[in-house]
Amino acid sequence: MSGSSDEQVSWQRFAELCEALAAVSGKIAKRSQIASYLREISVADKTTASLAALYLSGAPFAEDDTRGLNVGGRLLSSAVAEIAQADDERMSTTYRKYGDMGAAAADLIVGESTEAPLDILEIEKAFSTLATTRVQAAKQTAVKSLLLRTRNGETPNLQVKALVKLILGDMRIGVKQSLVEEAIAEAAGAPIEDIRHAVALTGSLFDVAMMAWNEALSTAKMKLFHPLGFMLASPAENVDDATNRFVEAEGAVKAQVEDKYDGIRAQAHFGDGHSRGKVAIFSRTRGDITKSFPEIAEVLAHADTPAILDGEILAWDFKNDRALPFSSLQTRLGRKKVTDQLRKETPVVFMAFDVLFAEGALQIEKPLRERRRLLESIVEKEKAAARSGLRRMAPRGQMSLFGGSEKELNANPERLRISPAFAVNSAADLDKAYAESRERGNEGVMLKALDSQYQPGRRGLAWIKLKRELATLDVVVTAAEYGHGNRAKVLSDYTFAVRDGDELKNVGKAYSGLTDAEIKDLTKWFTEHTLEDRGWIRTVEPTLVLEVAFNNIMESGRHESGFALRFPRIVRIRTDKPASEIDTVDRVREIFSTQPDRVRE
Ligand code: AMP
Repeated sequence: MSGSSDEQVSWQRFAELCEALAAVSGKIAKRSQIASYLREISVADKTTASLAALYLSGAPFAEDDTRGLNVGGRLLSSAVAEIAQADDERMSTTYRKYGDMGAAAADLIVGESTEAPLDILEIEKAFSTLATTRVQAAKQTAVKSLLLRTRNGETPNLQVKALVKLILGDMRIGVKQSLVEEAIAEAAGAPIEDIRHAVALTGSLFDVAMMAWNEALSTAKMKLFHPLGFMLASPAENVDDATNRFVEAEGAVKAQVEDKYDGIRAQAHFGDGHSRGKVAIFSRTRGDITKSFPEIAEVLAHADTPAILDGEILAWDFKNDRALPFSSLQTRLGRKKVTDQLRKETPVVFMAFDVLFAEGALQIEKPLRERRRLLESIVEKEKAAARSGLRRMAPRGQMSLFGGSEKELNANPERLRISPAFAVNSAADLDKAYAESRERGNEGVMLKALDSQYQPGRRGLAWIKLKRELATLDVVVTAAEYGHGNRAKVLSDYTFAVRDGDELKNVGKAYSGLTDAEIKDLTKWFTEHTLEDRGWIRTVEPTLVLEVAFNNIMESGRHESGFALRFPRIVRIRTDKPASEIDTVDRVREIFSTQPDRVRE
């Protein structure tokens, strides 16, 4: 059988490659292994090679594909347990041994299948079926029969390992999509820039791989309505630190400053020539949130030239012309249907701050100073289109496309806004901008390098965020939990409490802020100071004190203290402080009562 095309495209071969990739360190070695694999199978079957490229990037579907498997860890683990007839204890020990569901399944699902071995095209077919299977029981049956087919008599079962990891969307082979793109370039002998450009245009690694094998990369066309990666910001500790990065010795302006708003990040796609009025708004997690914000879609629906804008959705106080706190926006999150009343109670706007696509081309490689000019002209144009479109479309009393009253519609153009930007020359400028932003109720400022490109999905130094400093709390850890991913073997999630007289009352849970080395030390410490071992979670002696920061405090029934911290993160381990001196529920209440917006979770 060796060398036959069946074997080349088999799932076994794919799984072996994953195993090999996990074992080598270094990007170059990984890339060349992937490239030679892809080169070989693209000769046997281009579709299979393109699917393999996609799967190596850890995605069951291409980014422009809205389908999802909707198979979570729970369903998988119960399918694995059923096949292996393993009880909770065996599942838990095996999982803990590897810290990875795929590797655990490789140990548990063994034996030999009587069916023909799986190949990559069959995996794709099975994924399509899973994506359309809604009933959980049917889903579990389908997953089970797929898992059963991975058995080829070998232990560990590498096929199931690769499959489970792919279903969970994390191959853990140290391969990112960008490395697969490089490997495709190498395998197809195409320039990497062409591959990357085609990926940004189409959002489909699969399509781009096909184009690469067919030497047709130049035919890649922009597909709107698939989310591009969001550019992220790095934190700056203080104003001096932030200015030093951007102000040159001779004082040349290198950056602009904008308010940092506390809303939700969103990418708006609109103006598709083919389907007029079509708008899609994507969240930072790439979910389609258009339905939750019909008023914004309504403004953008008037556009007739395609564009993609990056911005922040905010709850807006039209009277005082400023953003409302994030808590106001909470009532609008996750809504499928937005009533007129909700629209009135919590008005929202789209605060645009960047443009990724316009004038028929991707704009991300242009410097920010050019993108900003373009953004200003687009926003003006779209607002004008919305104004005249409204006059045309909404004669007296007529309901809008999205169900708002005429009055609502007339307010619409103002729902598209542009984030004011100013040049900064000195630390004093930045100080002033920061103070003014806080005065307006915003979180702080964003500093953006004027000559920087838009880097999708990257957290670089071209954008710097400077946020408010908040009170911190000293708390004691009461329980420690195993984490996820590469933290599955360490106790990395900590439930913590404050004092209430002689009692301890939990107030939150944090899992970020510590280094791997610190987590390793704490794991050892917590293991030695466990009061009760409940498998995933250990109740521990309440002696370890942490200082935690947070964005704000909410009233909440989730914890005994009656409060919960929003976005808690660990600032440091306070070995210098005994648990008897930690903060109290009274202190939490005090901070809560000084917050401008007091909310209940
Ligand atoms: P953080 O969530 O603290 O990492 O800060 C980055 C986030 O700030 C971005 O994802 C945006 O949602 C948000 N943000 C608020 N205002 C701006 C702005 N003017 N420019 C860019 N991002 C902003």
